[in-house]
Amino acid sequence: MKRYSAFAIAREAARYHTGWERAWRAPIPKKKYDVVIIGAGGHGLATAFYLGKNYGIKNVAIIEKGWLGGGNTGRNTTIIRSNYLQDPSAALYEKARSLYETMSQDVNYNIMFSPRGVIMLAQTHHEVRGYQRTAHANALQGVKTEWIDPQRVKELCPIMNIDGPRYPVMGGLWQARGGTARHDAVAWGYARACSDMGMDIIQQCEVTGVRSENGVVKGVDTTKGAIDCDKLGIVVAGNSSHVSEMAGFRLPLESVALQALVSEPIKPCMDIVVMANTVHGYLSQSDKGEMVIGGGTDGFNNYTQRGSFHHVEETVRALNETFPILSRLKMLRQWGGIVDVTGDRSPIIGKTPLGNCFINCGWGTGGFKAIPGGGWATAELIAKGEPGPLAEAFSLDRFREGRFIDESVAAGVAH
Ligand SMILES: Cc1cc2nc3c(=O)[nH]c(=O)nc-3n(C[C@H](O)[C@H](O)[C@H](O)COP(=O)(O)OP(=O)(O)OC[C@H]3O[C@@H](n4cnc5c(N)ncnc54)[C@H](O)[C@@H]3O)c2cc1C
Repeated sequence: MKRYSAFAIAREAARYHTGWERAWRAPIPKKKYDVVIIGAGGHGLATAFYLGKNYGIKNVAIIEKGWLGGGNTGRNTTIIRSNYLQDPSAALYEKARSLYETMSQDVNYNIMFSPRGVIMLAQTHHEVRGYQRTAHANALQGVKTEWIDPQRVKELCPIMNIDGPRYPVMGGLWQARGGTARHDAVAWGYARACSDMGMDIIQQCEVTGVRSENGVVKGVDTTKGAIDCDKLGIVVAGNSSHVSEMAGFRLPLESVALQALVSEPIKPCMDIVVMANTVHGYLSQSDKGEMVIGGGTDGFNNYTQRGSFHHVEETVRALNETFPILSRLKMLRQWGGIVDVTGDRSPIIGKTPLGNCFINCGWGTGGFKAIPGGGWATAELIAKGEPGPLAEAFSLDRFREGRFIDESVAAGVAH
């Protein structure tokens, strides 16, 4: 595959862009692969990429029922941060954040990583205590964050009203190297690199069954026929409970719709990401000028990929107090994704009751930021058959053994 570069752009401009190759192939599925991964979202594609890059395992198929990146990966508000409370989470999310820094070079695709800084606002005394505690924990974990006062918040984000009548801003947890990346480009970049390594990305192909013999996985049934494999990775986010049922085990997950919306584009007015968890809205400005707003999850389990209308109103109404600038903006689009939420608000990366079948799921409302780290850890798990240091705390067993990784402050409602 040809490398993308400034030189390549100039060369193609000179010949009217006739020389670009397809970014990834559209192969016919083979009868058998060493590894099959179900789900071509960010985590599935990153798992495949690191299987090839770190372990030389390239006879891999990634099977996707829709189009690659069309699940939550292409539907999120792209916030990247690693300011988590518990040590295993901080290690995993910080690994992911640091991989984002070099991902454009690693996959030779501009993922538009923008480390513009993220503030999590404290608007209640409870949040002040929670975020100060997280700042101390992050200092011990080597994750660079700081507690900042309301004046510093105002300096960083002048459009904010910090004296709101109900929820004045009392400070914030600031991570200067947090930010955003272009979500589709993350999926496309990994997909192109995987295809370049000879892996097969099979789109429009739904997995309808998981076949096993004597408690060990043998392959999958799909809408394009049966495919055998030595190892299987289930990486399907909001559909995890369905696919695990096909494989004969249950997961401690709930699936709910989470939604987001964007405003009409306006001139640049905000160059950081703000998360206001109490009033429940997340805000950043896209390169096109739209205000990108993340809302909350539906209060009931569902698979709608839409979200309820009352949430749109609630989110915007709540944000108006802290961001009066929003009150006159028209909203352009609203959409939703199905997120899979665990009881302790931490993901599951681990072995399953079925031999040679591994799972990566439970990222809830915040797994975009984890894509490179989650893929790295899942690739190690699949390649070695055992979790490495990044994944070992996130096993499925923790729910049976009571080893919860409680991230209700960092991830209970936040993205
Ligand atoms: C509105 C919204 C805002 C969000 N904001 C943020 C944010 O700001 N920051 C952040 O870190 N995270 C955010 N998230 C969460 C984040 O998007 C997800 O945690 C992350 O994208 C999960 O990636 P994934 O690869 O596991 O799942 P997905 O991208 O959903 O990929 C799973 C894939 O599996 C496929 N699949 C399912 N079943 C089958 C089957 N039977 N056969 C074949 N394929 C199948 C699906 O079609 C899908 O493409 C947000 C999510 C939403 C919905």
